[in-house]
Amino acid sequence: MKVVNKQFRVRIYPSRADRNDKGEKIVSINKIESNIGIYRFIYNKELEFINYFRSLLIQNGYDDNVIVDDVSCNVLLKMLREDYLFLEKAESSSRQQSQRNLIQSFKRHEDPKLNSGYPQFKRKNHTKQNFKIINNNNNVRIQKDKYGFDKIKLAKLGLVKFKTSKEYHRILRQASDKNDPSAKIKHVTIKKEGDEYYAVFNIRCMHVPERIIGPRQQVGIDIGCGKLAVLSNTQEILNLDLTQETDKIIQYQRDMNHHNKGSIRYNEAKRLFQVWFTKLLNKRNDYYDKMTTDIVKNSCFVAVQNENIIAWKNNKYLSHSIQLNAPRIFMDKIEYKCDWNDVEFQKVPRNFPSTQICSNCGKRNKNISGLDKLGIREWDCPECNEHHDRDVNASINILNKGLELVGTTGQ
Ligand SMILES: [Zn+2]
Repeated sequence: MKVVNKQFRVRIYPSRADRNDKGEKIVSINKIESNIGIYRFIYNKELEFINYFRSLLIQNGYDDNVIVDDVSCNVLLKMLREDYLFLEKAESSSRQQSQRNLIQSFKRHEDPKLNSGYPQFKRKNHTKQNFKIINNNNNVRIQKDKYGFDKIKLAKLGLVKFKTSKEYHRILRQASDKNDPSAKIKHVTIKKEGDEYYAVFNIRCMHVPERIIGPRQQVGIDIGCGKLAVLSNTQEILNLDLTQETDKIIQYQRDMNHHNKGSIRYNEAKRLFQVWFTKLLNKRNDYYDKMTTDIVKNSCFVAVQNENIIAWKNNKYLSHSIQLNAPRIFMDKIEYKCDWNDVEFQKVPRNFPSTQICSNCGKRNKNISGLDKLGIREWDCPECNEHHDRDVNASINILNKGLELVGTTGQ
């Protein structure tokens, strides 16, 4: 048993009306749209004010160091609420959350490690449209409506129909019970993707790891571009064939360019583009989930090298493959699944030369280092004449290094 934060997505179906036939408040598309708008409005207005204030400081010859924190932004929010009365329609925690997002993005910008840009205005036609509600006093929960069906209650907004799996339904019902301390909804994000609406729940709950029968092994994983991953037991995980999806995406993108923006044909091409894009994401997610579960279930120790994938992305030969196959998602999935199932997980630092060391004698072979030598898939060790497959050798080295690191931290 372990306390974990679970996050999952539930499809919701907001209606056109504000109330149902029995007079209960229900979530309408209008309400969601206006909340998304208010979320963006607060973010943009506060950013606009901060930018204006900075320009004033620079004009008068001062340093443009503006401290953006809860205290200063609360004053701004109070002023905005007096000026724009429609802000009262939004959920109060959602108003706070929008401002907190702005403060977070300023913090990221000021952090020298992250190399993050100056906060930008949120755009109305951006593909990511969302707002967040914090669960205070159990005001986000599952509740029966007057017809006796389970609905999600979203604080001020009202009830909404939803569809999900049996397991998630059970967790949601458990988290809605005030007397049950084992699960609690922390916050929920309402998302709009194309024409579809989703609620992303963040739930703190108990997780029971699956019982595993049979022997478990120690495994090192080498993440790559040509193959997604190679394990130290010579198992290979190939990249998924996404040609059909990418072809369709390119085709509909081209269609969108050929028609006038806002015309019927443009909108149809845009809809189909979104359909195929979602298909690609779903297919990849499903594959990665299956593969990572399989690895984690059969292991007692997992070591992964902490690769610098952003650097790979900047390489013109690799960037396309990286964007399509997203190895970072694969790595993150392994990490959290190990945490949930009590499997020991170790990250190997990225400066460790895993490909160059001979796993047999430990001698470093510098002849195969560098990006231009990526073509060498197999090599012989000049010291002990052992024949190596490049990826398998690397994964064995990663496993050994990981075991060594665990040993040193354990002492
Ligand atoms: Zn050797």
